[in-house]
Amino acid sequence: MRMLVTLEFADAGAKSGQHRVLIIGRNGSAVAHGDMGLSLDDAQTLLGAIQDEFVEAQAAEIVELARTCPRCGGRLGIKDWVLRRVHTLFGRVLLPSPRLLSCGCDGSGRRAVSPLKGWLARCSNELSYQAAKWGSAHSYRQAAAILHELLAVHRSFGYVAVRDAVLRAGVRLDSEPISLAFDGGYARRIRKGRPRNFEILTGAVQRRGNIRVFATAYAGRAVLPDQLRRFITRTNIPVNARVALMTDGAGSLMRLKQMLPIRTRFVLDYFHVAMKLRHIDQCIGRILPRRLSPGGSVFELYDRFAFLRAYLWTGRRDKLERSIDQLIGLLECVERGWPADERSARMAIFHVCDLSAYLRQNATGVVDYQSWKRRGWRISLQHCARYVVVGIQHSAGHAQEPDL
Ligand SMILES: [Zn+2]
Repeated sequence: MRMLVTLEFADAGAKSGQHRVLIIGRNGSAVAHGDMGLSLDDAQTLLGAIQDEFVEAQAAEIVELARTCPRCGGRLGIKDWVLRRVHTLFGRVLLPSPRLLSCGCDGSGRRAVSPLKGWLARCSNELSYQAAKWGSAHSYRQAAAILHELLAVHRSFGYVAVRDAVLRAGVRLDSEPISLAFDGGYARRIRKGRPRNFEILTGAVQRRGNIRVFATAYAGRAVLPDQLRRFITRTNIPVNARVALMTDGAGSLMRLKQMLPIRTRFVLDYFHVAMKLRHIDQCIGRILPRRLSPGGSVFELYDRFAFLRAYLWTGRRDKLERSIDQLIGLLECVERGWPADERSARMAIFHVCDLSAYLRQNATGVVDYQSWKRRGWRISLQHCARYVVVGIQHSAGHAQEPDL
């Protein structure tokens, strides 16, 4: 089977009409079990070919518009062509760019003008954006490799170009804090004989995608500061680095801050916050829409909750307390007025109060999770804990998964 790909452009100046792009095909003999669909190579070839045509058509439209003199309506002639190279997400495009001879109808001399000036760039915005995005979450070399392997970005758009894109985007101006995540757990050994339970402390450091883990049985508390110091030394964290200490805020974990030999900033793990929000959401979802305050919308309760969630997500600590009070006020209104929803309202109030107490205790750890997430920074220690658990199971063999 062979696939013939033909494109058709409208309003694309000289490029309007149909264009045979390429043929993708397999010989019948090459069909193997599971050999279905396009390969990465096929897809890259296809996208690259379409990109060539697409960029050319965009250019043709711009050139076509520029070839009419805005004064007399005369058609401008082409002086010469220059070949331009443009990096895009789907390969490098070689684009012939014309220079037009300006019309002499206004009395001035005729000169060469480039109609694509102002549009044409060395690198497409989409590629700059993706390079900045991947380059801020990985090393520049890794980001370049991803762009080359998966998207067929031309090899000459290397890690230096990725770095430039990152710097241009300003993503790295505010550099990613090193995240140091700790979580407590409880492991039960079920090997034959006397069962032994022990508390464990797990930790992980993530720096530019590299993760180092730490785990210790909690029993030897006296040696903990020493163990932590050795762990931090092993991770080579620079003395003046910005380090985010991520925990679920449990009191015993907070004591780690004092034990650590480096300065840290406490960040409340978003996963735990999100779990508490989900409990509230589930209770509120069972309550029917009703007008709860004069002039209010029947969706006021859900809207209030949506605001609360948004304030938390964006780290608006100043708005949280009032928002929680308002939500509780509405829920109390439901609890008093509608017996059918009394139970759900009461449960919801319980969970809101739980969240409120949790946030008050850990207020300094609430950050603007939204912008952290946008920058590709870690906002939860979930995955760190997973790595540690896998490591423990691997080495202990018989330990059950700790209740993290
Ligand atoms: Zn003219």
